[in-house]
Amino acid sequence: MRQVCTADEIRTATVLGAGAMGAGIAQVLAQAGIETRLFDINDEVVKKGLESIATMLAKGVERGKLTADDMTATVGRLTATSDMTASLEGSDLVIEAAPEKLELKQQIFADVAKVVSADAIVASNTSSISIAALAEADTNPERFLGLHFFNPPPLMPLLEIVHGPKTNPAVVATCKELAHLWGKEPIVVKDSPGFASSRLGVAIGLEAIRMLEEGIASAADIDKAMELGYRHPMGPLKLTDMIGIDVRVHIAEYLASKLGDARFAPPALMRQMVAEGKLGMKTGQGFYKWNGRKPVLE
Ligand code: NAD
Repeated sequence: MRQVCTADEIRTATVLGAGAMGAGIAQVLAQAGIETRLFDINDEVVKKGLESIATMLAKGVERGKLTADDMTATVGRLTATSDMTASLEGSDLVIEAAPEKLELKQQIFADVAKVVSADAIVASNTSSISIAALAEADTNPERFLGLHFFNPPPLMPLLEIVHGPKTNPAVVATCKELAHLWGKEPIVVKDSPGFASSRLGVAIGLEAIRMLEEGIASAADIDKAMELGYRHPMGPLKLTDMIGIDVRVHIAEYLASKLGDARFAPPALMRQMVAEGKLGMKTGQGFYKWNGRKPVLE
C-alpha cells in the first residue's frame, strides 16, 4: 500500500447499492461534507435512493436537527448514477452496501479494484460476511475493512469497524477518525462470523421468532419483554422487520454454516414469510403491519 489517507484527506466517496443502507450511508457522508456518489444497478433504484434521502433530510429540518441550508448543501454534495465506473473514478473511499451475498460482493470488489487508486480505502457494510473472504477479491487487501453501519444510518450512532487479517492498522485509525467526523461512535472488532453486533442481535432475533412460532406470546408482547424489561429501545421482532426478514435469513444461514451452530438456522416461519413476500417494513408487512416507518399496533 502506497500511503493511507488521513480522515480529512477523504473528500470523495462512493456508496455501492442505494437500498435501505446505501442511501442512508450516502446521506451520512454527504452531511459530513464529503462529495458522495451513490451507485445502483438501475436508474429507478437510484432515483428511489435519492428520494429516501430527500425525505429523511426534510424530516430532519422539520425536527430542527439541521437547517434548510444544510439540507441544500447536503443534496448538492450527492450525485446518483447507474454507471459504476463513473461513480468510482477519483474516489478516496468506497463503501459497498449491496445484497448480503458473498459472490456478488466479491465480484463488486474485483470491479472496484480495476478503477480506484491503490491508496483508496475500500469497505463493505456487510452484516456478517468474512472481511478476509471479501478482501481476497481486492488486489490490495491492506486497504480493505468492514464499516458496518446500523439501520437507519443517519440516526444510529454505532459504527462497527471490522479489521481483517491483512487490514493495515493505519486504515483502521483513519476510519475511527472518520466515524467521529460522521457523528458516529466506533467500535473495533476482529473479523469473525457476525462480528460483535450481528452475532448477538441475530441470536436474540431468532429466539424471538422461535418463541412466536411456539405460541409463547404475541409479537407485540415478546417485543415488550425486551423493551420494558431490558430497556431495549426496540423489541427483536420489530427490529427484524426493520432490517428486512430476507436480509436476516441470509445472515442467519451464513452464521449457521460458519459457526457450525444450528441455533443460527433460520426458523421455518421466516422462510415462509420470505416466500410470501412479507419482508418487513420495506414491504409493509412482516411480524407487524407497517405504515411507512411506523408499525401498526392493533
Ligand atoms: P437492500 O436490498 O435494501 O439494498 C441493496 C441494494 O443493492 C439494492 O438497491 C440493489 O439494487 C443493489 N444492488 C444489487 N446488485 C448490486 C451490485 N452489483 N452493485 C451495487 N448495488 C447492487 O439491502 P440493505 O438492507 O441496504 O443491505 C445492504 C447491505 O447492508 C447488506 O450487506 C446487509 O447485510 C447490510 N446491512 C443491512 C442492514 C439492515 O438493517 N438492512 C444493517 C446493517 C448492514
